[in-house]
Amino acid sequence: MIVNTKGEMDAVDITASLEEKVKGLGDGMLHVFLKSTTSALFINEADTALLQDIREQLAKLIPKGGHRHDSTWGDGNGHSHLRSLLLSHDLTLPVRDGRLDLGTWQTVYLLELDVRPRTRQISLTFIPGKPIERIASQPVNRKSEGRVAPQGFQKQSA
Ligand code: ZN
Repeated sequence: MIVNTKGEMDAVDITASLEEKVKGLGDGMLHVFLKSTTSALFINEADTALLQDIREQLAKLIPKGGHRHDSTWGDGNGHSHLRSLLLSHDLTLPVRDGRLDLGTWQTVYLLELDVRPRTRQISLTFIPGKPIERIASQPVNRKSEGRVAPQGFQKQSA
């Protein structure tokens, strides 16, 4: 699978693309491997403010500049390599009846950490297998802005 990113800290929601790949595959596990040292995968809530929090915290933990690698190729992305260590390069996701069995608020992201737009390669492997137990998750439209909370979920009033 190929994912094009728009530049540093671009968070690309790859959930729908992964869903498409496992359609009709039955039960098992999808292994998602990102072939990169300056981008990363993570799972979290599809919330714009949260994505900004994640970007800011990564930048605080590992600031730009002053890294030895910056002068190796002259690409100035030492911080990108180091930030990628804090996240993942692979994920293993359960698949049930040809669908990703994610939690209600879970969205799969590819986060670009390099200093320019890149074309990212993701190696996907499906491993068939029987689930030990089935836990039905609440359906939710992850894409919509004004999401409706799933049944039984009370959003805290501000
Ligand atoms: Zn580099």
